[in-house]
Order: sequence, then structure tokens, then C-alpha cells
Amino acid sequence: MASEWDLVIRNALVYDGSGSPPVRSEVAIKGDRISQVGTIGGAGAREIDARGHALAPGFIDVHSHDDFAVFATPEMDFKVMQGVTTDVVGNCGMGAAPYRPATAMIGGMHPGAHIPQWQGYGGYLDAVDRDPPSLNVAALIGHGTARLAAMGNARRKCDAAELSAMRAIVAEGVAAGAVGFSTGLIYEPGRYAATEEVIELARVMAGSTALYASHMRDEAAGLLDAIRETIRIGEEAGVAVEISHHKASGRENWGRVRDSLALVDAARARGLDVTADQYPYTAGSTILAAVIQNGAFDDGPATGGLGKVPADKLLFAAMPKHPEWEGLRLSAFCERWNLPARAAAERVASEEGAGAVVIVETMDEADVRTVLKHPSTMIGSDGVPAGAKPHPRLYATFPRVLGRYARDEKLLTMQEAIYRMTAMPARKFHLADRGLVREGYFADLVIFDPARIADIATYENPRRYPEGLSHVLVNGTIVAREGRHTGARPGRALRRA
Ligand SMILES: [Zn+2]
Repeated sequence: MASEWDLVIRNALVYDGSGSPPVRSEVAIKGDRISQVGTIGGAGAREIDARGHALAPGFIDVHSHDDFAVFATPEMDFKVMQGVTTDVVGNCGMGAAPYRPATAMIGGMHPGAHIPQWQGYGGYLDAVDRDPPSLNVAALIGHGTARLAAMGNARRKCDAAELSAMRAIVAEGVAAGAVGFSTGLIYEPGRYAATEEVIELARVMAGSTALYASHMRDEAAGLLDAIRETIRIGEEAGVAVEISHHKASGRENWGRVRDSLALVDAARARGLDVTADQYPYTAGSTILAAVIQNGAFDDGPATGGLGKVPADKLLFAAMPKHPEWEGLRLSAFCERWNLPARAAAERVASEEGAGAVVIVETMDEADVRTVLKHPSTMIGSDGVPAGAKPHPRLYATFPRVLGRYARDEKLLTMQEAIYRMTAMPARKFHLADRGLVREGYFADLVIFDPARIADIATYENPRRYPEGLSHVLVNGTIVAREGRHTGARPGRALRRA
């Protein structure tokens, strides 16, 4: 007799993603969907005994830079093995289209990889469906990529013709089902945009459910003005807002998150849908050229978007031309070359070009906790998939929140932490029928041992899978079983609901 269900998971402690306390339950899956939750009579074609384990919706990584990685490394092991079943790509102004500027901005992370070609965001999403990775992919439209296409790297405001060229790029993405539009206002070329340019482009999304996500103009001394600018863009354009990697960067700015969160609360009280994402670490990671350009090594009180970065607080993550430098600190090169920090950094950047990615220790643990506790915060890895020594957030963001901050330090309950990675982002990014363990929802699921789940990736040894994760399912297909990737690639492009 054929069984009614393809898979039944029994004896799991089910965290349904809504933030409710867990209940012991059984879950039946048919095809790509959850068909029943509760007591399941009869046997499934396959069964998983999840005794001693928790079952949750698959995690949604709202802040990724995996636009090309999903083709270069389609098994996406660094995400799948931490329980991520959906990646939102295209953050910080770096989108997947148009193809040429996208390759200029993102291609450097994947030297030698074969990346297919596409036209527009519609073409990108179709390419994902044609050659799917192991997880689902939703895309943001990049402002930087659009600007590069419309006006090259011109260091000035746009004119009317350039604005309308950018508008057309955003409109194509919105129509194709992109989940929003992102800016990177500390980066080339986004940093030359006036607020009005961003408002005009965000307005293309008005009336749709697409949102505005921003790596803001300043996360240091000018953090509060940057928050105000971001909120203004959302309010004037009439769209929801997502603040990327909410933080106060640079020792001289520690503590400012209390004021930035107060601005977020005030905007929410006025009715704006503004939320943020965060990776649970005190170090960030970005392009070395941007660290230099934003004044991190300059003398004097006024610094740019990152605050000050001492040479011994900067680690080399990806150095495509000198991989032997990866894992070393800038201070070692100051000594080796007898140069001050800025000059040593410039020498590294000129030898390496745009592919140089670094880790900067710029945040306060107390601020990280303050932001994580706040109800506006969801989880996003901001992982940069490049180099031998990437920031460990690429591998371990979600287990670190669950193990360290929820279980061990009790900063959040386990159900609240899971909500911030599942139903909360699914609702915000309009990912239909995802983010809950509920009948009719897609079977994107994670099974883990709540007593054992832990991040073990470190700055010295970042490419390590977390502990305690047992199974990961994407669209009903098992992509990790007993802690091992199965090689299955059932991911899909997700178009905005
Ligand atoms: Zn960013």
C-alpha cells in the first residue's frame, strides 16, 4: 500500500516560527509542502525520529551576498549546514543585474568560477530556477549596480536621464518579483547619490510590497543622521524599510545604538514598517578599499562610515593575489614595511585590487546585545563568500544566536530567536507560505539538538560547520541528513508575494 505521506517526522519539539512556546508534535510532508501537523496516523514512505531534537522552520538569511555564490558553489554548504533554507541576495547596493556591473561588483569574490549569463532580475531569477542551488533565493535590486550601469563611476549627483535609466532597472526588478531595493551608501558608486536620488528610486516600489534595505551612509559618528535619512527615504517613498546590520562602529561611537533604536521606535510608532537585521559578532567585514576611503585610518576626530580602525583590529579575509596573507593583521604589515596604517593598507589594496576583503573589529559586545534584544531586529549573516579566512558569520550566524545568545545567555527565548529568523523575515520580505511550521506551508525545515547547537567557526578557523544540526529540508527534500550535506539541490527562486 502506498503511504499517504512522503515523509513523517516524529517526536520533535516543534518551534513553529510564530514565537509561541514549543510543543511536541509530528509533522507529515507530501511533495514540497507540510500536509499535516499534530498526531499522524499511518506510516510515511520515509520517517525521521527526531527524539531529543527541536524542529523549526528553515532559517531565512535576509542579508547575504550570495548572488553569484549560488552558481559558483550551488550546494551552498556554508549556509545549508547552519540551517539556512532561504538566502536574500543583493544587499548593500550590490545586485545581480544588470549583468556587467554586477560582475564588476560581485564577480571578484569567485575567481575562475563559471557563472551563467542573464538579462535583468527576471533573467537572474530564471537562471536560479534553471540551475538551482540547495537553498531558495530571493533577490534585492542593487542601487550601486543600477548606478554603475546608468552613469559609470561618476562621482557626482545623477541627472534626469541617468535617474530615468536607473528607474527602469528598478522597475524591471520589481516587476520580476524582487523583494526590494538596496543601497550601499558608503560604497562606490552609491556614496555619491543624494538622498533625493534614493527616494526617487524607492518610489518606483510604492504600492508594491517591495521594501527599501540600506547599508546606511554612516554607522559611526553620523549614525543617527544616517538612521534619519533611511527613515525619511521610507516615509517619502511610501515603502517599508530594512536597516542593514544595525550597529555602532568604532570605539568612539559605542553606545549610540540606544539612540538609533529610539529613532527606530519613534518611526514605528508613527506607522512606518521599519526593522533591521544583525549578525551576532563584534567584528564586521567589508572591502578593504572602502575601509580606507571612509577614513578609518585618518587622524582627527571626524571619520567616515566605519569609525576608526586600529591596525591590530583589521584582519585579512580574502586576498586573491596573496592568499598567504589571509588570516594576518594589518599591524604585521605596518611592521614589515615600516609604514603607518593607512599607507600599509593602501599598498595592500593597490596590490590586491577590488577583491581584497577584510574583517574589522569595531563593535561593542554590549551594543550587539542591545540590538539583538530589540523587537525590530531579525537575523542576517552578511557573510562574504570569499577567501580562505572569511568572517565566521558566513558559517555560523544562526547557530550562534540560538546556542550562545538564546540558550546559554538567555538574552532571548529560543522561540523568540527562532521567530527572528523565520516568520518575522518571511512576513517582512513577503515570502509566501514560508517561515512557519504549518499545514500548507512549504516544507523548509531544520532539525537540531537545542542542547548541543553551537557555532564553532572562529576568525582563525572560520570554515567549520556548526555543531548540533541534524537535518535540513528545502521544499520537502532532505539537503542535510545526520549532519551531512546530501548534495540535493531543490532550491527555487522566490518571487515577491
Ligand atoms: Zn553592508
